[in-house]
Amino acid sequence: MPELPEVETVRRGVEAFAIGKRVTSVCVRRSGVVRGDVSAMARTTLTGARRHGKQLALLTRRGPLACVHLGMSGSLCVHHAGEPLAAHVHVVWKLAGGGELRFRDPRRFGGVFGFADPDALHAARWSRLGPDATAIGVADLHRRLRATARALKPALLDQALVAGLGNIYVDELLHAARLHPLTPACALDRNDARRLVARMRPLLQDAIDAGGSSLRDYVDAGGDAGGFQARHRVYGRGGQACRRCRATLSVAPVAQRTTVWCDRCQPADECVGVKPTHRPGRRGLLKKDR
Ligand SMILES: [Zn+2]
Repeated sequence: MPELPEVETVRRGVEAFAIGKRVTSVCVRRSGVVRGDVSAMARTTLTGARRHGKQLALLTRRGPLACVHLGMSGSLCVHHAGEPLAAHVHVVWKLAGGGELRFRDPRRFGGVFGFADPDALHAARWSRLGPDATAIGVADLHRRLRATARALKPALLDQALVAGLGNIYVDELLHAARLHPLTPACALDRNDARRLVARMRPLLQDAIDAGGSSLRDYVDAGGDAGGFQARHRVYGRGGQACRRCRATLSVAPVAQRTTVWCDRCQPADECVGVKPTHRPGRRGLLKKDR
């Protein structure tokens, strides 16, 4: 599933191609994928692409906008109008000059949401999101973690607590910050929160610089895969050697998600009790993380 770095990479590609261009029409090819009115974007000019967490908004001069959620398998790509339409393209924004933005989503966990203006978006969908992971401060993250009884892994996956992290970057972040995924979030002290924020920003920035992580479906706005998957230190590496200490990485389900960590670099508190499997490859993965 595209997480913050992948969505930010798409945002940059869309902005470079489409901003300043006039939308001549919006073609909805599968109505169930769209909620709200996106046809109001026709005959106005795209002025920006904004991201919050894993969601993207295409903004226009007159106000009507589309919030795009890529879900598990969605993509938002730029095309020439003459290019053949792939299967599962659900929404097409036709642009003056012959370009198109195409939203494609084979598994249909994503969607497109029309709003009258940015205020309406912020009052609805984006009001449910916590601060963006690239911008959250130490005191805010500490306060939010202390307020939950959950373990760190599910707390950081919660988009209402902090927006943008998913299974890949939570595992990478916890390894970088040397915190066990089952540490109770409320047990973190201010230094732990400072370490999380200090590791979160460069991790996400490095992933953005690499064009994001491509595991299965993710492509950027130009249709190209990302390169950060080659630099994952724990995600997808259960049973392999830790790149920091060479210990065998543990893998087990945490919060119904396949989770990989290093018991030596991320020691557990005594209250933590999860039995790692050490099984590498697909056998150690939960179905939705394959
Ligand atoms: Zn290690």
